Amino acid sequence: MNIPSLFAKARKIVLKFGSNTLATGNGKINAPLLEKFAEQAAALIRSGKQIIIVSSGAQVAGLSAMDKWARKKDIHYRQALCAVGQVKLMNAWEHAFTPWGIHIAQILLTRDDFGDTTRTLNMRNTLFTLVDEGIVPIINENDTVSVEEIKIGDNDTLAAQSAILWSADLLVLFSDIDGLYNKNPKEDPAAQLVAEVRDIAEARRLVKASGTSEFGTGGILTKLEAAERALSYGIPMILAHGCRERALEALAAGTQPGTAFLVHQEARGS
Ligand code: ADP
Repeated sequence: MNIPSLFAKARKIVLKFGSNTLATGNGKINAPLLEKFAEQAAALIRSGKQIIIVSSGAQVAGLSAMDKWARKKDIHYRQALCAVGQVKLMNAWEHAFTPWGIHIAQILLTRDDFGDTTRTLNMRNTLFTLVDEGIVPIINENDTVSVEEIKIGDNDTLAAQSAILWSADLLVLFSDIDGLYNKNPKEDPAAQLVAEVRDIAEARRLVKASGTSEFGTGGILTKLEAAERALSYGIPMILAHGCRERALEALAAGTQPGTAFLVHQEARGS
């Protein structure tokens, strides 16, 4: 099962954007990128797909507004920064979707929300209602109430949990790398992109073995965990670069590379 077939088969798609993807080099929200994504997402919706977005970037957006807080490490300032930034982030998404006549909705979640049956039921029903009405829900962690100990901690996990909650058909993580590599491509030109992962344990070994400097750890591990979670519910996942030209369309068309994490059945059936 290749990436275009995953898109063709999926009706309910969760798209997650990391903060490196959404921010420009100078630490601002990359509004033109959001606008291009909204245009491509609108086209997907017109073609009959349903979409939920999981968006990081509140802190970046907050910092660009409150640059005098940049050095403040105090937890309350960091939470305040996210509260300010969340508004800016949602403004940027709203501005991006408005030309396509699409409304967006903000959903802020915490770890506790996923552990409580009544809350998960409410979340699920709200997501279904919004999407059925053609609205694009945009989910982020509620940083104001989530101190370190009770955090979901990363939006890869949040995206996988949201995909499971909504019974999505496909989860797409947009990052600042084309997919999973067997070595660090910044250090080793012979590094190869892994097009298909069927076995997460094997992928984990690969990542640990590829570990030089910062590469081989960090962000990629939470992506493997997200894949494991999603796959255990039968939801395939794609990891791809979010800053490539028209990344969403290109992935669906098979003109952009990425890593497909497949449930065993699909891996065998292809
Ligand atoms: P995001 O902000 O998009 O969630 P992260 O920075 O958390 O992204 O994770 C992506 C990063 O993981 C890549 O830019 C890369 O430096 C690092 N990484 C470590 N090991 C690997 C690997 N084996 N394959 C791909 N990326 C890796």
